[in-house]
Amino acid sequence: MFKSTDRKVFHDDKELAQVTKHSPVKYPYRLNFYDRPPLYDVTVEEFETCALDRLRILAEIESSAARNRSWEELKTVTNKQCTNHLPLQTTGTQELLESQRRKDHLGHFVLRLAFCRSEDLRRRFIKAESTLFRIRYDGDNTEERQLFLNSRDFNWIPVDAAEKSKYRRELLASYSGSKNESVREQAFDTERYYKVKWTRVPDLVEKRKVFLKAGWAYVPGKEQSSIVFQEFEVHLAKALELTARSLPRLDEDSRLVPILDNLSQGFLAGVPSEWSGSGEAINGDEIKAEMVDDLAKRHFPLCMRSMHDNLRRDHHLKHFGRLNYGLFLKVLGLSIEEAVVFWRKSFDRITDDKFNKEYKYNIRHSYGLEGKRANYAAKSCQQLLTSGPSDHGCPYRHFSLENLQTALLSTYSSRGLTSADLPEIVATVKAGHYHVACTRVFEMTHSSFGVKKGEGTGGGESITHPNQYAAKSMELYKVQQDSAEKMLVE
Ligand code: SF4
Repeated sequence: MFKSTDRKVFHDDKELAQVTKHSPVKYPYRLNFYDRPPLYDVTVEEFETCALDRLRILAEIESSAARNRSWEELKTVTNKQCTNHLPLQTTGTQELLESQRRKDHLGHFVLRLAFCRSEDLRRRFIKAESTLFRIRYDGDNTEERQLFLNSRDFNWIPVDAAEKSKYRRELLASYSGSKNESVREQAFDTERYYKVKWTRVPDLVEKRKVFLKAGWAYVPGKEQSSIVFQEFEVHLAKALELTARSLPRLDEDSRLVPILDNLSQGFLAGVPSEWSGSGEAINGDEIKAEMVDDLAKRHFPLCMRSMHDNLRRDHHLKHFGRLNYGLFLKVLGLSIEEAVVFWRKSFDRITDDKFNKEYKYNIRHSYGLEGKRANYAAKSCQQLLTSGPSDHGCPYRHFSLENLQTALLSTYSSRGLTSADLPEIVATVKAGHYHVACTRVFEMTHSSFGVKKGEGTGGGESITHPNQYAAKSMELYKVQQDSAEKMLVE
């Protein structure tokens, strides 16, 4: 299995360009129907990196539906995520554009392999990919978009002036636009029309935006995108079925299958498996053992807070609970020395000898000081959501609804959460969007810091990692403290 700490993120344009320098594939357009698979050598690392970065975007698109975002909000959030993880600029040096397009191309095909395996995954993948395509289509340079459209055969038949004039009355009746009749007619007169089989534009038929005649739909130029989007979806659905049929041959590859499994699990859980801060301590200030109780009350997500409360109640945590909570605290900034103090004090019903023999080694191991000395990353939401029973997994998924509501109220009522907030959270959990429920709880319990509904941890980003939750909460708290201190001085 490839760990998150092994990932190489090409945030540096030059670095990314270097990787793609010798790629034989050229990408004349920013938009892509992904007709040709990548037929060039790719490292396993690049294979995984490109897919994970794309998965972040698709997972955020899925979350947006669960969060009931408007189209404009969805576009803003997705474009922001794309800028961070999967930029696809309209202008730049040829080398840079090629490298970004190559990454886009490769990531799409890796995810096809991961998501062709079941009907449900295919359906969700098509939906998220089509949305991404629409967003890019909307934001594309008009001239380049036209060149892209001209480069493909969409099987539409241009309607000539005589035919347009013959059906003028009918076409005008279904032509949307200004309420002012003469303005609308003027726009209609300059509009170009295309004919396609009506089954290719069901959305336009449903909204009565096209004139239907003898099985043909007369589509105005401004609705041309519907044909393109429909074509994209049909094309991708066919391609996924073909990929699914070829997949058994790939199942023999022991390098790729674990990566593909990991990717599809992440998508099923609704969250990507990565968060950029998950491998190292994120807070500048070191955390002391005696600070953990207070931090847990103020800043921890429900999963870590539950483990903390269990530890305090039982003076003990089982192996995976210790592992998950310990790694979380490590990334939060608890040094190995402080971790030993923390765990020793927490396990106050056992002898020093037992603690040193049975627990100390594992604590040092998770800090990379024993065994194979690896820098273990803290568990992401995806990992917590897809593994483990309730005492060390994600409460939104693993608790019964009744227990979840009780836990939410007892944990967060001091942070402003009330029983009136529960129905929304429960509905989100019932729909299987666990991390979206957690994100809403973050928003609700941080409203006094100015966090608004839909904002998540900033710019609409959803929670994908317990440390992301805690880090953002601590950051907000610090900003508030600093400004309060500043006001006192003034
Ligand atoms: Fe923890 Fe993530 Fe679940 Fe929130 S969604 S409780 S951060 S595992």
